[in-house]
Amino acid sequence: MVDGTALSQYTGARRRLVETLHDGGVGDLNVLRAFDQTPRHLFVPTGMRHRAYEDSALPIGNGQTISQPSTHARYLELLHLTGSERVLEVGTGSGYQTVLLSHLSSQVFSIERMGGLLARARDAIRESGARNVSLLTGDGTLGWREYSPFDAILVTAGAPSEPPPLVEQLAQGGRMLIPIGDREEQRLTLVTRHGETLDRRDMGPARFVPLVGMHGWPS
Ligand code: SAM
Repeated sequence: MVDGTALSQYTGARRRLVETLHDGGVGDLNVLRAFDQTPRHLFVPTGMRHRAYEDSALPIGNGQTISQPSTHARYLELLHLTGSERVLEVGTGSGYQTVLLSHLSSQVFSIERMGGLLARARDAIRESGARNVSLLTGDGTLGWREYSPFDAILVTAGAPSEPPPLVEQLAQGGRMLIPIGDREEQRLTLVTRHGETLDRRDMGPARFVPLVGMHGWPS
């Protein structure tokens, strides 16, 4: 369910962003539709709304950024969501990707360690019309055991290694995308659970802010 008022603004700019993503190689129509249905201007500071539909990362306060749309698109394609999944997102940030995920799955659980960011994200998510989203302020490296197991886990900050609680909370056949490396540069890693076996695939370079927490970096 998408709020029509927010979507009636910046329609042309949003359509051009979808075309840019398509021209850049994003072929999954469900992913492109999610971008078309998500009002990104709600998730950037008011003074930056005129730049909301550029394919670029933008500052959102508290030293954090809303990631580049083409980065979101690539990650969403890699997760191969079919609409029935229970998804855990670690690092809500602006809440934009949370809403993209909400269009592609049945339920999204998202954790952000910074209470101020989460408060703003909560308002924007509500205004966007997304209703299948649950939010928590806290350390996402611990996961959200109460609602586990998750069919997909998306970590949007760079980790030194796989947080064991997240691996434990991955469902059979579940996929986790997580950037792993040092504080500046990581390798995007796709972890898939097959029974007790974990399959790990390197999906290329990534640059994210540090994942700070008990199973991440010290603050
Ligand atoms: N995808 C987000 C968006 O669209 O706006 C951007 C996420 S930003 C690159 C990474 C976020 O992870 C930051 O907001 C940061 O505060 C958060 N973060 C870092 N460590 C965390 C942790 N242990 N638990 C939850 N959130 C964390």
